[in-house]
Amino acid sequence: MKDHQSHLFEEEFTGWLAGLRALADKCREDDGAWRKVASQGLLSLAAPEAAGGAGVGYEAACLALEAFAEESGLSGLPFAMAAQMWACQEPLLEFGNKAQHDRYLAPLMAGTAVGAFAATEYDSGSDLLSLRTRADQHGDGRWRLSGAKTFVTNGPTADVFLILARTAEGSALFGLTAFLVRRETPGLHIGKVIDKTALAGAQLSSLHLDDCVVDDADRLGGTSGGFAVLMHAMRYERAFILAPTLGLMAGALRQAIEHVRSRTQFGQPLGSYETIRQRLVRMHMSLTSAREVLYATARRADRGALDHGRSSLTKLHVSTEFNRFCQELPDLYGGYALLPETGATALLADAVASRYYSGTSDMQMKIIAEGLGL
Ligand SMILES: Cc1cc2nc3c(=O)[nH]c(=O)nc-3n(C[C@H](O)[C@H](O)[C@H](O)COP(=O)(O)OP(=O)(O)OC[C@H]3O[C@@H](n4cnc5c(N)ncnc54)[C@H](O)[C@@H]3O)c2cc1C
Repeated sequence: MKDHQSHLFEEEFTGWLAGLRALADKCREDDGAWRKVASQGLLSLAAPEAAGGAGVGYEAACLALEAFAEESGLSGLPFAMAAQMWACQEPLLEFGNKAQHDRYLAPLMAGTAVGAFAATEYDSGSDLLSLRTRADQHGDGRWRLSGAKTFVTNGPTADVFLILARTAEGSALFGLTAFLVRRETPGLHIGKVIDKTALAGAQLSSLHLDDCVVDDADRLGGTSGGFAVLMHAMRYERAFILAPTLGLMAGALRQAIEHVRSRTQFGQPLGSYETIRQRLVRMHMSLTSAREVLYATARRADRGALDHGRSSLTKLHVSTEFNRFCQELPDLYGGYALLPETGATALLADAVASRYYSGTSDMQMKIIAEGLGL
């Protein structure tokens, strides 16, 4: 948390977190969970007070996401909220003007509107800068967007989409522009929910833009500013999208320890066998190391010192440790790993997904290697 925040603040925040945990405990099957959690202030924690946020910083926001995931046991909902916080709210905070803050940022932070970030296209995944959705400005100053997006987290429910489109040929550095597009805008068609095998509760869809007319006032970051908007979103998303998984790992570790202490084979608890104990120690190490790196990154962001290399390293490290953890988890349960109540195979699927969203592990590796001068 920020240096100026006092012991008093920490006590107050600890009390707030306890309230969030109590609420999260009741969130399991509740459709209104997004609004309830948002109304507690989770989505606005990192935003500065001047922009209507709580101004308590990134470390506090990540602690809240972790606590919410741990207590609720939900993976999709905190992932979807984190996606909005880092890929929609952060660019709005950085590049939005007062009118855009009032119109878009305030309802997103309050949870009265849901946001989605739409950059990926069918032919432009890792090669994102090759995206082909076009935006052309007409004589009346308004923009016409045409193209298709996919893998849009929150797509089925979002009220506002942050869409990246090409406004000039040539280098993506100068050829992309970001637009804020409301759900009801004519020409914006939302595809059906994409079936997936991970992150239950998070909804993804495609988007189709068919001569979708957007006001010039809804450009974010200026014409040709799309690359900067994208980089800003990715800097925060890569750093912090995995904060909820720390809570999921903590919950899974606790549940697994209870299991190996209570289940007996060959007349002894599973937890007395060295192979089982070593698995749990390795899982504990993975969680500890993932947590240390993510929170050190959050403290850097709170000092205004978050760079792309560090964000990629955080994403790569936390997702790698999450995968290591989940490789061990099913083996503590044997056949019972296949029962939904252990959550072991569902978490393994989430771990696999974490290698792909916000840029694949290969792409994070590429960014880190370039940072090393390779
Ligand atoms: C759960 C989830 C949520 C998502 N949410 C969003 C969202 O809200 N908004 C959004 O815009 N996008 C979103 N995405 C899309 C995500 O960013 C892409 O899936 C990701 O960038 C990878 O693109 P791809 O899936 O097309 O894989 P591909 O680019 O087809 O890659 C396939 C494989 O090839 C590898 N590869 C590709 N190029 C190279 C290379 N040059 N060298 C070595 N290996 C390479 C990749 O690392 C990967 O292993 C989401 C994805 C998921 C899974």
